[in-house]
Amino acid sequence: MSGGTSAVKPLRKYKLVFIGDQSVGKTSIISSFMYDTFDAHYASTIGIDFVSKSVPVDDGTVRLQLWDTAGQERFRSLIPSYIRDSHVAVVVFDITNRESFASTAKWIADVRAQRGNDVVIVLVGNKTDLAAQRQVTSAEIEACANEQDIMFIETSAKEGFNIKLLFRRLATALPSLENSAAATTEPQVINLTVQQPNSSGGNGASESQTCGC
Ligand code: GDP
Repeated sequence: MSGGTSAVKPLRKYKLVFIGDQSVGKTSIISSFMYDTFDAHYASTIGIDFVSKSVPVDDGTVRLQLWDTAGQERFRSLIPSYIRDSHVAVVVFDITNRESFASTAKWIADVRAQRGNDVVIVLVGNKTDLAAQRQVTSAEIEACANEQDIMFIETSAKEGFNIKLLFRRLATALPSLENSAAATTEPQVINLTVQQPNSSGGNGASESQTCGC
């Protein structure tokens, strides 16, 4: 597929879809990454389908298209077409809302149904700033991610905690997805190191904890 002119590589574009229950912080995470602000007004007001941002990676730049459901998560019949041509599914839940964590299993199942293993999935536990109201421990999140063979990270869109790291790790993982997708159908497992905002990460559970999602 390489052309006559060397050196200049085509810009790789990837579609990232944000899914998860309502109010877990999907729009806020996008807003924090795009605009360095905790102000989720953009999508709901003008109904933008997606926003784009270029991210540097080791061997150049990738362009990420971030698709927000903008409330459509309430209409589950729309979700398959939304997920269909995605490269990355960012499955978000709210660590202060156990129900939203339980829902991630069906969101992940939706992604697998549409994309099989040709997709990077990351489980995002958002709202770490609300530590006192935490209902899902870090150990449970890790156990769930390991069981499902997916990446995981904890974030706070409000404080900007781990937001850049989330996208940097995803961007770095994508070219390898592209290379290996043709060669193998193995799931893409990338180990995201979760940085804890403080030691009240709420573990208290053993490593052998079963998946709670
Ligand atoms: P979405 O429906 O999943 O897109 O969720 P939104 O981004 O609209 O956020 C839902 C609510 O949670 C809003 O009131 C946000 O201000 C709030 N929120 C989102 N992320 C965070 C966070 O990291 N910490 C806190 N404390 N609130 C958040």
